[in-house]
Amino acid sequence: MSYKILLALFLGVVLAACQSTDKTNNYSNLSGDEIKHIADSLAQAYIIVDGHVDLPYRLGVKHFRLEREYLGIPVSSKEGDFDYERAKKGGLDAPFMSIYIPSSNQQKPDMGKALADTLINMIDGIANAIPDKFALARTPSDIEQNSREGKISLPMGMENGAPIGNDLGNVKYFFDRGIRYITLTHGKDNQICDSSYDTTATWGGLSPFGEKVVAEMNRLGIMVDVSHISDEAFYDVMKIAKAPVIASHSSCRYFTPGFQRNMSDDMIRELAKNDGVIQINFGASFLDSVARQNDDLRDSLEAILVSRKLTSKDPEAEPIIEQFGKEHRELFSDVSRVADHIDHVVKLVGIDHVGIGSDYDGVGDSLPLGLKDVSTYPNLIAELLKRGYSAEDVEKICYKNVFRVWNKVIERAGNPG
Ligand SMILES: [Zn+2]
Repeated sequence: MSYKILLALFLGVVLAACQSTDKTNNYSNLSGDEIKHIADSLAQAYIIVDGHVDLPYRLGVKHFRLEREYLGIPVSSKEGDFDYERAKKGGLDAPFMSIYIPSSNQQKPDMGKALADTLINMIDGIANAIPDKFALARTPSDIEQNSREGKISLPMGMENGAPIGNDLGNVKYFFDRGIRYITLTHGKDNQICDSSYDTTATWGGLSPFGEKVVAEMNRLGIMVDVSHISDEAFYDVMKIAKAPVIASHSSCRYFTPGFQRNMSDDMIRELAKNDGVIQINFGASFLDSVARQNDDLRDSLEAILVSRKLTSKDPEAEPIIEQFGKEHRELFSDVSRVADHIDHVVKLVGIDHVGIGSDYDGVGDSLPLGLKDVSTYPNLIAELLKRGYSAEDVEKICYKNVFRVWNKVIERAGNPG
């Protein structure tokens, strides 16, 4: 029997004991230390899926090479937000590796296909080079199996459908390469649909080719990711999708009025009708409107760190950043703000449609206090328990909601029509 299963059984006994004295199934009246302890145990016992981690691009920018004696392979490092050791500490099992294709590639003859292949090769390479720590994953049950063996799964999602080009056959090509979700576009309109960051409204939503891409993804069993696409494109997807969709890294527009990259209340309701999931992004600009206007403050913090010859990743920088954050509350959000977004989704559509899509390694230093890297998911779980969420609720947020969507996508592909 594996460590995770044993832990889950043990935890079941502990939680049952807590619940027998507390009939409301509510941990909110426990002490901070007790909650922290339970949160840590839940993070280890439950699978945690994160919808969006930008590790491949971070390594790609640094000219990652496998052959240089594992240089750059993320086992233990001070760089970035993700590595094996910190993931283990935080209970993370399955960070979706973002195969991110910047929109500049849309001008190239191959529309970014070669770059996509390079980044996929990098993830394959990491899994092959350290098979006792990392493994590829093409289904939820792959992730369950890898977790039982103590490995971090590296499922892949492609951020931008541009590399599909104008050939529908490429959807199958990327499916065969292991891509399990495609974000239809990124910062600019592409051949599939319009982007929330663009103003051109090339198609007024999904293009005719984009409709075929969505149908082909449904046929094969690739999740449709609606993060980054325009509102019109989202509603077009809702009309034709034959399976639930995800928003792999979006937050609630309710807290960031006018920021189209987040989802409006109406869109979240539509997403829930489709049985989909919104995976909450941790980046400051996704959590609060004010945070988006704080580049100057961020520069002054950077200057303080540089003057002390520190980077934000040095442990010595931690108290300085924390102090600065306290003096300038508007600069960083904190873990409770992320929980506010989760609360908001739950209030709108219930517990079954929300998950985690941190955008680690993709949003620079703008991460909330208490959620600075992949070792910190227990802080979010503790905050949710404090607010009265049950262990079962936490389990849904950590992975069950996303697994439900993913399994349905697989099932529908097996039974088209
Ligand atoms: Zn993104």
